[in-house]
Amino acid sequence: MSYEAMWTELGLDLAAHDALLSVLGEGYQNIFLSQKDRPAGMEYFNFVISEVHGLRVKELVDGKKEGKKVIGSFCVFVPEEIVRAADATLVGLCTGADFATEEVEKYLPRNTCSLIKSAFGFKLGKVCPYIESADMIVGENTCDGKKKSYETLNTLVPNLYVMDLPQVKSSAGKTLLKSEYERFKTAVEELTGVTIDAARLKKGIEIVNNKRKAVHRLSTLRRANPVPISGLDALLINQVFFYDDPIRFTDSVNKICDQLEERIKEGKGVAPKSAPRLLLSGCPMAVPNWKLPWIIETSGAVIVGEESCVGERGTRNLTDDGGSTVEELMDAIIDRYYKVDCAIFTPNPDRLDHVSEMARANNAQGVIHYGLQFCQPYQMEAIPVEKALEEKDIPTLRVDTDYSMEDVEQLKTRVEAFIERIKS
Ligand code: SF4
Ligand code: SF4
Repeated sequence: MSYEAMWTELGLDLAAHDALLSVLGEGYQNIFLSQKDRPAGMEYFNFVISEVHGLRVKELVDGKKEGKKVIGSFCVFVPEEIVRAADATLVGLCTGADFATEEVEKYLPRNTCSLIKSAFGFKLGKVCPYIESADMIVGENTCDGKKKSYETLNTLVPNLYVMDLPQVKSSAGKTLLKSEYERFKTAVEELTGVTIDAARLKKGIEIVNNKRKAVHRLSTLRRANPVPISGLDALLINQVFFYDDPIRFTDSVNKICDQLEERIKEGKGVAPKSAPRLLLSGCPMAVPNWKLPWIIETSGAVIVGEESCVGERGTRNLTDDGGSTVEELMDAIIDRYYKVDCAIFTPNPDRLDHVSEMARANNAQGVIHYGLQFCQPYQMEAIPVEKALEEKDIPTLRVDTDYSMEDVEQLKTRVEAFIERIKS
């Protein structure tokens, strides 16, 4: 099926977009389709990626013609429950590849993290159908890089909404989160023309919780040895979490989990029982940022969990749906998001505990901390994370990298040496 007319209508640069899709397709072929013994259910995710700028965008565009709104976000602090309650769709706008770098550096300093630069590059290069179809783009005041870059993004898009977020977990911080979520609810109501009542909010919570429960089930199954699914495939599922129709996504993940349960019963896995089991921790990895997991899993180790916003940090807690009024349900949403232990919080002891807990629960023998260059929150926090883990005899490797492929050989050497340390 050709989507050229749709992409043109969205204002994409077709030649640049074709080039992007071709690189994406080639990368996917080399990194994902070359893996052995993938669960049959990954066919669905192959299809999603092959149609990530096609069918899924068409669904959004068709929905818009029927009055459904699309809201784009760069952070897991944007409460999807509220968006769903208004029958709108939330899509992730973070991107994992360098694009239009020269143009980006006219707007942002060179020493900005790859994630922020990439989001700008996709906008300036006119290659992201999600940002172009969004009726509202939500920026959030988290790290300094993001909050300052939104001042510039505001000059490039007509529909930026900025959400303030606390940086300290205190009663004042929680009060700020509450008032910002209430302001966001009002903004979503104004955008969609829908009044969010308790029944709608309950339904929104149910849809998002079901999605989270499915990925929790997947995480638990990865504790088995041999591990029934690769870290790359599990990461891909966590990435698709941000794009797909939530109900279809939940069903697809649950189907894979049924297959993984069978595999575990039969003692089948994607790597030998002796393969070193590693946990990834740190900055989020957006599509198509697969470099480090690919290096790790082609070096003989297997990734058994992601302590990341594209992973367990983003999905681990459910929202309590027991309330019966809008106020009670909004409080439950605030309670749930308040627990997210992003490195923008100071101090942030919960994250240190959570990384160790995850390593233990997933039977990981080591942790690789992934920091994006120029990401102060995660690069700084990597040092106490490493210290806390090493004190618990969990070997840890700190990696700082970006989206380029220039350091692949160097990273591979370091990862291989770390794997040897674990084996010895
Ligand atoms: S790492 Fe922090 S800023 Fe980034 S998506 Fe997660 S919560 Fe948001
Ligand atoms: S990776 Fe770090 S610097 Fe970049 S947007 Fe996320 S928190 Fe900010």
